[in-house]
Amino acid sequence: MKHCIKCGMPNTRPGSIFDDKGVCQACHNYDSRKSVNWDERKKELRKLCDKYRKNDESYDCIIPVSGGKDSQFLAHIMVTEMDMHPLLVTVTDSFTHTQAGAHNLRIMIETFKLNHYQYTINHDLFRRATRIAFEMTGEALKFVEYAIYTIPTLLAQKFEIPFVIYGENSSFEYGTTDTNFYDATPIVQAMSDTLEKERQWWIDHGLSSEEVSSIQLDKIKPLPLVIYTSYFYPWSSLRNLEVAQRYGFRTLAHEWDREGCIENFEQMDSIAYLVHLWLKYPKFGFQRTSDIASRRVREGQLTLDEAMTLIKERDHKLDQKSLIDFISFLGYTQKEFWEITDKLWNKDIFEQKEGRWVLRNPPY
Ligand SMILES: [Zn+2]
Repeated sequence: MKHCIKCGMPNTRPGSIFDDKGVCQACHNYDSRKSVNWDERKKELRKLCDKYRKNDESYDCIIPVSGGKDSQFLAHIMVTEMDMHPLLVTVTDSFTHTQAGAHNLRIMIETFKLNHYQYTINHDLFRRATRIAFEMTGEALKFVEYAIYTIPTLLAQKFEIPFVIYGENSSFEYGTTDTNFYDATPIVQAMSDTLEKERQWWIDHGLSSEEVSSIQLDKIKPLPLVIYTSYFYPWSSLRNLEVAQRYGFRTLAHEWDREGCIENFEQMDSIAYLVHLWLKYPKFGFQRTSDIASRRVREGQLTLDEAMTLIKERDHKLDQKSLIDFISFLGYTQKEFWEITDKLWNKDIFEQKEGRWVLRNPPY
């Protein structure tokens, strides 16, 4: 396990690219922003919007939203700058949701006066699919993560809305690709295709064929154009937070101090979602603190030393409130949870010391 010499990101992130000096692609991609003409990119977005904008108040695009700061920023751009008429779509998981998350979604609908479509996977299917994915792969929210991408596009197909707007191209921001691009349509299609390849696997573990199909794209109806807005606007969590706060966005500051995290405003809608994020730790030796800290180093808000101190202190921690929500909804005891996760620890990265798994080569 090696870490980027500039931002500290580990090379165990699936698909990560490092140069021979030990600098990760995410750092190179961040630096490449300086040479981009962002005014030109904004004009490109306007041109796309001009192509799809409807002047009769019917929906001309779908914005998949969680209510988080990035969704608020997207709604802000599409409504106030691009004069579009979006339909907001939320695909929710069945875990308990935070008060701040519910508040943020509500003010977003009110502020921008937009209609909102909430798609909830039936709780029984969500529970079974999550149990299967957790027990067999450790990637607990595999099924719902597919749905988060496919359902807004599927609804766009059904409602004949030609344009779907996502925020960040995380493969570019986290350096698993060296090219920035906006067209995410092939990515959504690939997710639906992957699900097709996995169909038998899900059926063998207890889902029905119809349940798998329920989150796949329509094979006949035309696909909308799906875009990443981070191609057109330099993406920044803190700028998005600032914009969202102007509309009344709330962080978790007065609600929940999350273990294993270094901020209180990212991925904050669903309580048990943190378990899904933590499950990367036994497999790859890093999780949320590393993700955010290395990002802050790239953005110039933390030094590498400060990031390493935070990673040492927090990256291994699994939030207890999140764990309890996860196991109580899915029907596990704590003992069962730890027995299932026990087989996930990567022995090339971890060794056992005094009954605990610890990193063999910690970066700090
Ligand atoms: Zn880096």
